[in-house]
Amino acid sequence: MGSVNEGSVLAEMLHHRAVGLAPGEPVALPLVSASMYFLPGVPDAPFQYGRSGGPTWSALEEALGILEQAEVIVFPSGMAAIQAVLMTRLSPGDRVLVPSDGYYNTRTLLKDFLAPLGIRYDLCATHDYADRDFGGYALVYVETPSNPALDVCDIADVAARAHAAGALVVVDNTTMTPLGQRPLDLGADLVVASDTKAPGGHSDALLGHVAARDGSLLDPVRRWRTVSGAIPGQLETWLVHRGLESLEVRFDRMCASAGVLAERLAGHAAVTGVAYPGLEAHPDRAVVRRQMLRCGSLVGVTLESARAAEAFIDGARFVVPTTSFGGTHTTAERRARWGDDVAEGFVRLSVGCEPVEALWADLVHALDAVC
Ligand code: PLP
Repeated sequence: MGSVNEGSVLAEMLHHRAVGLAPGEPVALPLVSASMYFLPGVPDAPFQYGRSGGPTWSALEEALGILEQAEVIVFPSGMAAIQAVLMTRLSPGDRVLVPSDGYYNTRTLLKDFLAPLGIRYDLCATHDYADRDFGGYALVYVETPSNPALDVCDIADVAARAHAAGALVVVDNTTMTPLGQRPLDLGADLVVASDTKAPGGHSDALLGHVAARDGSLLDPVRRWRTVSGAIPGQLETWLVHRGLESLEVRFDRMCASAGVLAERLAGHAAVTGVAYPGLEAHPDRAVVRRQMLRCGSLVGVTLESARAAEAFIDGARFVVPTTSFGGTHTTAERRARWGDDVAEGFVRLSVGCEPVEALWADLVHALDAVC
C-alpha cells in the first residue's frame, strides 16, 4: 500500500469503531436514521440537522479516511462526488482537461451543465496524457485505468507536470479503490470515487466519496454537500460501511480471478482482444507495475461482432447481464450500447467472487458456442 503498511491500515479500518466502545454498546455500527438531533441553547452539538451530518456518515467517513489516509466526505453517488469537486473547484473562464475515454457521465456533466456556465473543457485520451501539455488548465482530471477500455496513465508524472503548470489534479479512482491504487500518495490533490462498485460490493447501494490530504481543499466540497442537499442516505451509508469490512477479501479474490481469466481469454479462438492491466501485453505495463498495487477486477474482452458479444453474455450462466461493476456476482455488458468509443464487440467483464474454475468453465462454454 505505497508508503504505509496495508495490513495495519486494514486492521485499523476494521477496528475503528470497536476501539471507542463503552460496555454494552453494539459492536456493529448502528444505523441511525434521524433528521433532527437534540439541540437546546447554543447550537454547537456535533450533529444538528440531517443535511449537515450524522453518526452513520461520520463512521463511514472515518473508515474510508483510514483507507485513503486522508480526510473524506461521502456523497450519495460517485457522480455527486464528481459534481461537488467540479462545481467547487472551477469558475467561469476556467479550463479543465478530462479523459475522452473515461466514464461518459463526467463528460456529459461538463458538456450539458458546466460548459453553459462558462467552464471550458478539452478531451484527451488517457494514454495521451503522457505527452499532453497542461499549460492553461485550472484542473487536470484523470481516470486510470479508464472505464471501459482500461488504458493507463502515470499519475505521478501527470501530477508533477500539472502542478508545475499551476493546475489542481483530481483522480477518479473508482476502477481501483484505495487498495488497488493510491493517487494521493502519487501526488494527486483530490480523489473522487464511486463506492457503488467494489467498496459497497453487493450491488445494493449507490454512494461516492471525495478524499484529500489538504483539508482546506475539502471545505467548499463539504459546504456544497450541505447547501446543495445532495446528501447520502443513512441506509446506503450503513450498507457501504458494512461492505468495506470485507473489501480486501472480495477485491483480492476478484483481482486474482480477473488475472487468471484475462490470460486464458486471450487464448480463446472467439476472442479477438483482451484488455487487462495485469497482462504483459498491456501497452502501459511499466506504468501499471509502478503505480498499481492490484490489477483490478475489470477485463475488456473483444469479440468479432455485437452479435457474438451479446450471445457470449447471454450464454454464460454465471455472468449477469447488467451495467455497473465491482459486485460479488460476475457481470458483463457491451459498452458500445452506451456510445462508448470501443468496438461493437467489446464486453466489459466485471469479475466477481465466484470460484475461478467454475467461472472459467462457464465462460468457455459460452465462448465455444459463439465460435
Ligand atoms: N466514475 C467511474 C469511473 C464510474 O465507472 C462510475 C459509474 O459507473 C462513476 C464514476 C459514477 O458513479 P455512480 O454510479 O456511483 O454515480
